[in-house]
Amino acid sequence: MKLQQTIGILGGGQLARMTIAAAMQYGIRVKVLDKSADAPAAQYASEFTEGNPQDQAVAVAFAAGCDAVTIDSEHVSAAALSELAQRGVRVFPSGEALATIQNKCRQKEFFAAHKIPTARFRVVPSLDALRAQPPEFPAIQKKATAGYDGQGVMLLATEADLARAFDGESLLEERVAIAKEIAVLVATDLQGQRVTYDPVEMVFDGVRNILKYQICPADISEDQARHARAIALLAAEKLGIRGLLAVEMFINTAGEILVNEMAPRPHNSGHHTIEAAATSQYENLVRMLTGMPLGDATTTTPSLMMNLLGPENGREAEFSAIISRALRIPNVHVHLYGKKDIRPYRKLGHITLTGEADQILVTYRQLTGGGQ
Ligand code: ADP
Repeated sequence: MKLQQTIGILGGGQLARMTIAAAMQYGIRVKVLDKSADAPAAQYASEFTEGNPQDQAVAVAFAAGCDAVTIDSEHVSAAALSELAQRGVRVFPSGEALATIQNKCRQKEFFAAHKIPTARFRVVPSLDALRAQPPEFPAIQKKATAGYDGQGVMLLATEADLARAFDGESLLEERVAIAKEIAVLVATDLQGQRVTYDPVEMVFDGVRNILKYQICPADISEDQARHARAIALLAAEKLGIRGLLAVEMFINTAGEILVNEMAPRPHNSGHHTIEAAATSQYENLVRMLTGMPLGDATTTTPSLMMNLLGPENGREAEFSAIISRALRIPNVHVHLYGKKDIRPYRKLGHITLTGEADQILVTYRQLTGGGQ
């Protein structure tokens, strides 16, 4: 293993920032490419390049001198990753795996091809095609590309909703009667060795469709946990992925597990691994990228993670009041991403609570004023 390596990250969001924090432990340099010099990771990168990670030539030029290259978001050039791999750079994920994931329709076809359980679906090429052959209502429509955090997702409850449906290629899915949403993180090293983290359970605010909090371990049966890990491992194996793969799943009211979507990078559902697992997702990513042995992914303590979002009124004072309150409570770990612009609902940081499983929900209520 070469000791002094340089990792390049396409995109400079909070995931890149926390990966840098892990890389520092091993004296590894991290270069970052992002469109904005204000990006959360820019501040800590050994070298920062302002440029568009979606531009193949820009991304390839940026990676000069890197031993390994990874991503902070799916919205980067998959072709650049393929070109870099051909030039002998270690890339996580491969351009091919990323291209499959970038398009929700291709991703679903991948699940179907490998018998990975998922909600029934149909690919529609355009709005005209959707109107010509309407789905059974209710259905969920998802834009094939460029959706994130629920923005490219629409419930088509009745035929009348076709009037505001998305145009362009999209995915039509049956609406799942969701009992729980869970996620499993898989880490695969250069030798193809894999570890999985314990399933986490994500609790959403049904009205605003944003994550309220997430707990680990998920409150599911041992059988369900084993099954969820097996599904995530199958997806990682069939994708031939190296590095991290987060697999988001639904458990429906009949108890069946259905994969919703995957992300080939550190994931929001793995933030808690910094304090609540033997090796964090970020440290494992750094280890895998540089050819170090994978670290133990065992959960060391129950945890609850909540994103810190910009307050509705966009006021900094309100945001900092929440942080001050959190810092007074023991076993509350605050992470701030250094974002200057406090827009409503923007992810500005996160908090992880650790402790006994029944106590952390009490602390959560104390922290959020019991209202959430
Ligand atoms: P994004 O990639 O934008 O986060 P998702 O595919 O994760 O979009 O969908 C966002 C949310 O919408 C999910 O967390 C889930 O609550 C809901 N959702 C997505 N697909 C379905 C479905 N087929 N049935 C019911 N709810 C769904």
